[in-house]
Amino acid sequence: SVSRTPIIAGNWKMFKTVKEAVAFADEVKGKAELAGVESVVCAPFTNLPALVQAFQGTTIKVGAQNLHFEDNGAYTGEISGIMLKDLGVEYVIIGHSERRAYFAETDEIVNKKVLAAFKHGLTPILCVGEKLEEREAGETKEVCRVQTVAALAGLTAEQAAQTVIAYEPIWAIGTGKSSTAEDANEVISYIRSVVAEQFNGEVAQAVRIQYGGSVKPNNISEYMAKADIDGALVGGASLEPASYIALVEGA
Ligand code: PEP
Repeated sequence: SVSRTPIIAGNWKMFKTVKEAVAFADEVKGKAELAGVESVVCAPFTNLPALVQAFQGTTIKVGAQNLHFEDNGAYTGEISGIMLKDLGVEYVIIGHSERRAYFAETDEIVNKKVLAAFKHGLTPILCVGEKLEEREAGETKEVCRVQTVAALAGLTAEQAAQTVIAYEPIWAIGTGKSSTAEDANEVISYIRSVVAEQFNGEVAQAVRIQYGGSVKPNNISEYMAKADIDGALVGGASLEPASYIALVEGA
């Protein structure tokens, strides 16, 4: 849309050492930077200080892939929003389907994390999306509605408008089976209507909603051509500098 800045976010998942992360940053600097497109690299915690430093003076932003909802405490192995903000991290992926599936993140936990992100001045990239069985049962929209409403509960309208939502059908993640742009746009348009109902029309028009699931340099433009799709959350294709640059150019 003309009024929403497209946003490409790379989700590195559990890949790259610090050395590899810095080499990536050196390659994409000045290239994965285009006026009118926001570019965010979401990396493992261990890479974040080096990446913030490597992207200093560029327009590329750094994101984490998770946070704990408490500020501090006896939560061995966890990282809080305070700690991420302290590093200069600006974004945080919340509720990725891999975390919901393997780390038992419920809608309630996701909501606490979204609230914690805003408490510390981080922008959440909230992931929602249906499983294959749910799609086949015709439950896609209902699943996305429930996840979205739960995750955004308790936010101010201003916070809701700043949230980035990533619609990621789980069957399309890492499988090479992407949703058609038509189908993705239909669900994303529905999610926008859910945000309008929960908040208001102005918030719904401002909120950016990405598509995620096997997005590649050769299909990004199909998604970007759709009115309600404001960018992409990209796993596999965000790992190689040339591919990441092509995705930002494609947006
Ligand atoms: C993701 O991890 O959010 C994702 C969409 O992965 P991929 O692009 O590899 O399908």
